[in-house]
Amino acid sequence: MAKPLPASTRLLTLRLWQEQVRRHRPGIVLALVCTVVMAGLTALYPVVIQQSFDLFTANRMDLLWLIPPAIIAVTLAKSAAQYGQAVAIQSVVLRVIEGLQQDLFRALTRADLATVARDAPARHAARFTADAAMIREALTKSINAIADVLTVVGLIGSMVWLDWQLSLIAGLMYPIAILPITKLGKRIRRASSGVQDRVGETAAVLTESFAAARVVRAYRLEDQEEARAARIFAGLRDSLQSIARTRSSLDPMLEALGGIAVAAVIAFLGWRVSSGAGTIGEFTGFVAALLIASRPVRALGSLNAALQEGLAGLARVYAVIDERPRIVDAAGAVPLPEGRGRIEFDAVGFRYEGGGTDAALTGLAFIAEPGRTVALVGPSGAGKSTALALVPRLHDVTEGVIRIDGTDIRSVTLVSLRDAIAYVGQEAVIFDDTAFANIANGRPGATRAAVEDAARAAAAHEFLAALPQGYDTVLGSGGSRLSGGQRQRVSLARALLRNPRILLLDEATSALDAENERLVQEALARLRAGRTTLVIAHRLSTVRDADLIVAMENGRAVEQGDHAALMAAGGLYARLVRTQAFSDVLAV
Ligand code: ADP
Repeated sequence: MAKPLPASTRLLTLRLWQEQVRRHRPGIVLALVCTVVMAGLTALYPVVIQQSFDLFTANRMDLLWLIPPAIIAVTLAKSAAQYGQAVAIQSVVLRVIEGLQQDLFRALTRADLATVARDAPARHAARFTADAAMIREALTKSINAIADVLTVVGLIGSMVWLDWQLSLIAGLMYPIAILPITKLGKRIRRASSGVQDRVGETAAVLTESFAAARVVRAYRLEDQEEARAARIFAGLRDSLQSIARTRSSLDPMLEALGGIAVAAVIAFLGWRVSSGAGTIGEFTGFVAALLIASRPVRALGSLNAALQEGLAGLARVYAVIDERPRIVDAAGAVPLPEGRGRIEFDAVGFRYEGGGTDAALTGLAFIAEPGRTVALVGPSGAGKSTALALVPRLHDVTEGVIRIDGTDIRSVTLVSLRDAIAYVGQEAVIFDDTAFANIANGRPGATRAAVEDAARAAAAHEFLAALPQGYDTVLGSGGSRLSGGQRQRVSLARALLRNPRILLLDEATSALDAENERLVQEALARLRAGRTTLVIAHRLSTVRDADLIVAMENGRAVEQGDHAALMAAGGLYARLVRTQAFSDVLAV
């Protein structure tokens, strides 16, 4: 147990101490005080037993009545200390975990979009739950280990006080016990990484299978899915069983060693009693000490495995926290200069990391003049969404330059760039918060009047005011209180309140009912007025009204112009129109 820790273990522990644990000094002090009291009183136990047995054998009935109250007092005090210790430890540990979760969440919300998109949402969530649980377990066990060490030290003190020669014999047994503990610990560590893999595999198969519920029924794949799940469950059981076997062998082994220790002590005692040294009280107290020590010793024996699992979890969490965003303010970045929102794509190329050999965008060039609308059209996969994502620097261009009002967007501050832009996606995003907060987060610090004005302009005021608590009504997760059209109008109100010079719009593909559609289109028209708009257009009506149409295919702008010119040219755009690629084409 006194083995030097690997450097990374030391660094991880040190960091956890400095960044999290150290903050909770009062809790730690309380836990330590309780721990010392608890360990001291536990160590006192064998002495109380020895005293009472010696008083018995000496027939000191006058003093014997003192023993039961003494035992009650010792156990009560010990129980109180134990309770205080457990509560103090848990409150420190839970706060440490909370702090880690906050740091991790902050890192993820500020990470580059590409970093977040790299892992499945379930994988991110697992760091907050599964990894956090492992760290909590390891942390709790480590702090408890301090109590265990103190208890064992106290008990050893008692034993030596009771009979140092017997202590020597018992002491010889402990080094023998170390051997199986470390050996089995290693085996458990190896097996537990196998279990982690199986657990991940099982979760993946389950999510996949439930996500495919519709197809499973339609194609009658139930038997196939059941067989697949059965295989996965069997694999999970197998690897859990191998850990259980190893783990189960540790306790009996320590128990058997304990038996040998007790046997040795009794044999020695027989010799001692026959030679007239030692008392029954000493013997009983000594055996009691040995038995009491066995629990903390066993706990220390299993500490290693939990510690390794916790450290692995901690390493995974810190790996995410430490990943530095690459999209940050350049040195000497200045606020975006005033302007009316002229957007210039100058030979822009972009390649996704790990996106294969094909570039998502190649030599894309167009200009959106201030206050004008540019419609990006093209088949799916043409690169329209990618082009839109480059403007607020969700990704950085890998070639070429994007300029806003003449300035390379990489040379201005991210805050000023993003403040100048509003994005309205296909799905209206509604947070589980009040209607007011859902609109107000378009511009921090917005007044009630400003929010209501924006809502009016987006045709959202009437239905929001009619909610049970008006603007203070919580809209529910995903805006479940609102209809699809209402959700869109709330998200348009948010964009209106932001009052950006640039609007990025990913037009909804599915049409709403006629009335809602009209209201949303009117709100959109109000939002677009006077702003430069880049729209991924799915409706012919939008495209026809656009000042410039950029028809894209395979990451390139194949043709540019207005509706009439492009129809006359008879290229990609004319083909899209002819093949009814636009959702409202039948209505035109
Ligand atoms: P569109 O919006 O026109 O449908 P996208 O901009 O979504 O097209 O995609 C352009 C190309 O980039 C496609 O080939 C797509 O497969 C690829 N792509 C999109 N997102 C990613 C990503 N996160 N990682 C790798 N490739 C991506």
